[in-house]
Amino acid sequence: MAEASAKALLALDDLAEGHNDVTVELSAEELELEDEFFVFRSMVTAAVAVRRSMDNFNLDGVVRCQISGDCYRCLKPAQQDVEARFRLLVQRRQASPEELESAEEDGYIEIVDPGMRQLDLREYIREAVILDLPVRIPTPDTEGRCPQCGEDLAGEVASGEEKAVDPRWAALGKIEFSQTEEST
Ligand SMILES: [Zn+2]
Repeated sequence: MAEASAKALLALDDLAEGHNDVTVELSAEELELEDEFFVFRSMVTAAVAVRRSMDNFNLDGVVRCQISGDCYRCLKPAQQDVEARFRLLVQRRQASPEELESAEEDGYIEIVDPGMRQLDLREYIREAVILDLPVRIPTPDTEGRCPQCGEDLAGEVASGEEKAVDPRWAALGKIEFSQTEEST
C-alpha cells in the first residue's frame, strides 16, 4: 500500500492494559477502496476496541461508511450505509515458522515481530469493507422495495400488508441473511 498514514497506525506501546477505544477516520483513497459500481461518498470510520494483555492485543472493529451509485432498477441515485466488522488477535512475540504458518491459516490470529511498535490498521479496515460491500444497490427494504424510489425490487411483493410475501422469496432472504452474518 501507499505510504502509511499516521492516523491509521496504532501505537502498541501507548495502549493501556485492559480496554482501549481507538477511532480512526480515513478516506477511501487512503484505504485504496475502489468499486466498479459505487462511489465512496464519506470518510470511512473505524471504531476499534482494543483489549490489551501484555503483548496480546484483541481487536474488535466496527467500520462504517456510505456508498452511492445508481439504483440498479430505476437508475436513480441511491445511497447506502455500509457497516462492517473485523476481529483479530495480534500477538507480539517470537514465533517459529510453523506457528506463523498456522496463524496465517487460522486467519484470526496475527503474530507480529517482538520489535513492532506500530500496527497499520488499514489492511483490516479495507478488508472488512470489501467483504461487506453489497453486490448492487440499493438493498431492498423489509418490504422488498427500493428505499430510494419505492419501486418493487423483489418482483413478487404486492402492495398492502395483507398480501404475504412469496415463501420462496422469504426463504431466500433468510439464506442471504445468515451468510452475511457468517462473513462478518
Ligand atoms: Zn430505485
